[in-house]
Amino acid sequence: MQHPVEQLRTQQNLSDGELRALIATDRYDSELYRAADEVRRERYGDAVFLRGLIEFTNYCRNDCLYCGIRAGNRALSRYRLTPDEILDCCCEGYRLGYRTFVLQGGEDPAFGDEVMCAIVSAIRDAYPDCAITLSLGERSRESYERLYLSGANRYLLRHETASRAHYAMLHPASMSADNRRRCLYDLRDIGYQVGAGFMVGSPYQTVDHLVEDLRFLQELSPDMIGIGPFIPHGDTPLRDFPAGELTLTLRMLSILRLMFPYVLLPATTALGTIHPCGRELGLKAGANVVMPNLSPVSVRQKYALYDNKICTGEESAQCRSCLERRIEAAGYRLVADRGDVRRA
Ligand code: SAH
Repeated sequence: MQHPVEQLRTQQNLSDGELRALIATDRYDSELYRAADEVRRERYGDAVFLRGLIEFTNYCRNDCLYCGIRAGNRALSRYRLTPDEILDCCCEGYRLGYRTFVLQGGEDPAFGDEVMCAIVSAIRDAYPDCAITLSLGERSRESYERLYLSGANRYLLRHETASRAHYAMLHPASMSADNRRRCLYDLRDIGYQVGAGFMVGSPYQTVDHLVEDLRFLQELSPDMIGIGPFIPHGDTPLRDFPAGELTLTLRMLSILRLMFPYVLLPATTALGTIHPCGRELGLKAGANVVMPNLSPVSVRQKYALYDNKICTGEESAQCRSCLERRIEAAGYRLVADRGDVRRA
């Protein structure tokens, strides 16, 4: 039988059983990292793309059981940035070399289509050479269309878990895995570059769920895949579950790079939170994107999806230069262009 890492690297489809075996063992880890790094270098060289993350509201109407900004968390102090404050973040980001802005927030009814389209148009007018990425959760197809026409290019919406049963264990009954999928397919049809993804080691997750995640991603074929370890937040119902593991997250990153050679794959803040060198290890396992924070320091701590989140005390400029040093020390090069997906 052919070696499973070699099979993946040559784009052969592994069976569910073979994938399960690969996910469940640490036996192949160093080979997986090496193969993933080679494939990433073939496609993207040593480039690491920068995305400036602006966390513009922590109000949310949803009650995802794992998330620190869930509506039910009364202990959290809430904030919203004004459109001018959001533009100030972009201005600072542009000065620091960012050419992609990611606007992320809870599902905040205060940012309806009117307000959100005005913000996107203003950024589009001021920075015609930049990519605008939105991560605003589930909205109607019409809303996604209006935002796209206002100038947004990309949308991040993790599917969270591809198993409907597992989805129901992590979300209230008012939310559905099917609506989230509907959103992802609408976004793709409209013309956005789309990002899906999932948490690694989320409560009740099994190896079979991870295989289902890979199969769903094969079906969707997204441009970006965001994964990071689950990390408990003390004011949520899932506070007593352990965090996802570093090695499993790195293994999944490598598997994703081998299955989706073209994909834009971030080394996430959550990965940097569970281990001091988490993001560097992520890059060496196949990731090629980092998303430093551009939000004003005064609100950083309040965008607490999970406990002990890193980089909440630093100015944007500090974050940028700290990451640049880390990326270079890991053997990669920070690239300050839009960093669009390279499918071919
Ligand atoms: N409201 C937006 C943004 C959600 S926050 C949306 O619905 O897409 C961005 C991501 O953070 C989520 O998709 C989730 O995968 C992740 N996240 C939330 N809580 C987390 C936790 N406790 N640990 C790790 N990641 C978490």
